[in-house]
Amino acid sequence: MNVPFVDLRAQYESIKGEIDATIHNVLDNTAFIGGREHSELRKEFAAYCDTSACALVGNGTDAIYLALRALGIGAGDEVITVSHTFIGTVEPITMAGATPVFVDVHEDLMVINEDLIEAAITPRTKAIIPVHLYGQPCNMDKIIEIATRRDLRVIEDAAQAHGARWNGQRVGSIGDLGCFSFYPGKNLGAYGDGGAVVGADDELVERVQMLANHGRKDKYLHQIEGVNSRLDGLQAAVLRVKLRHLDSWNELRAKNAAEYSARLAGQPHLTPPRLHELGDSVWHLFVVKTEDRDGLSATLKSNGVSSGIHYPVPLHQQPAYEYLRLPESSLPVTEKIAKEILSLPMFPELTPEVISQVVETAAEHFSVAS
Ligand SMILES: *Cc1c(COP(=O)(O)O)cnc(C)c1O
Repeated sequence: MNVPFVDLRAQYESIKGEIDATIHNVLDNTAFIGGREHSELRKEFAAYCDTSACALVGNGTDAIYLALRALGIGAGDEVITVSHTFIGTVEPITMAGATPVFVDVHEDLMVINEDLIEAAITPRTKAIIPVHLYGQPCNMDKIIEIATRRDLRVIEDAAQAHGARWNGQRVGSIGDLGCFSFYPGKNLGAYGDGGAVVGADDELVERVQMLANHGRKDKYLHQIEGVNSRLDGLQAAVLRVKLRHLDSWNELRAKNAAEYSARLAGQPHLTPPRLHELGDSVWHLFVVKTEDRDGLSATLKSNGVSSGIHYPVPLHQQPAYEYLRLPESSLPVTEKIAKEILSLPMFPELTPEVISQVVETAAEHFSVAS
């Protein structure tokens, strides 16, 4: 058995004709920066997110950084988020000059525990960054309620959740700004780096786009100092093709998740992911919990099954954040689940047969071990 964790080649093969044609078209027009593919994708991705505006940027980390900058968040400010996430959520807070403040997650849902947010708010708090981790939406009703009452901005980290819905609404369109990554392995992935910021405040989103292009609106007129963080024309063209397939790929992911959950139902040593009733996940990852994570991961590997851990070392325990001086057990749930989580292979092209083999291999591990 040889089961990859994701299979980008299978996806490319399935849309090769469309991709090759659009890439050649960009080459023929030498529309490498800006251009028609870029401006069309801005409209199409905004529409996909049920919002009015979209800025395209160089990657997901810059998307969050530029969202913070556009909202005027920087030195002396605090931003509340989770430690149980990819570092790309938190680097932008520091890049903007602000300080990250971590709150714990729900043990079963593994996204921000909204009931812990208020206790973390100080007079310096300016924003909350909820992370729709693994494709699963956070409780946005409660987060928006807190933010409105306490006058805080909300920047959604939707880097793993293109197309997910909270209570019927697309993620990214619920907070002040929504940030996406188009890293190749994401649900909507480019053939290189890319990112986007969406929102309903056209002027604010335009400010993000301006900041991402040296702070200019006209070629030789710079309103402010920005950065160079642009999505190039080739990536925009690839993403336009793939955006047309995104909903059907997300449906296949959901089918695969249902298949996994059905197979895992009778397994005492493996806890399948739990979702909030109002959340519609797009299953970027399928993450189970188990008391023998490292043993299981080794058994899967020796049987040709790739797995991952998202994420093994919480950010507040990383050397990079030692300066925050957060003691052991400051985020007990985050620290506990980091030792138990295992991401099983998940991608649209996965088949029920392979899923069943993966679960059988995992079940065997525990029957041998006990
Ligand atoms: C991928 C990711 C990012 C950063 O995106 P890049 O495009 O890699 O910079 C941020 N947050 C989360 C949750 C991510 O998964």
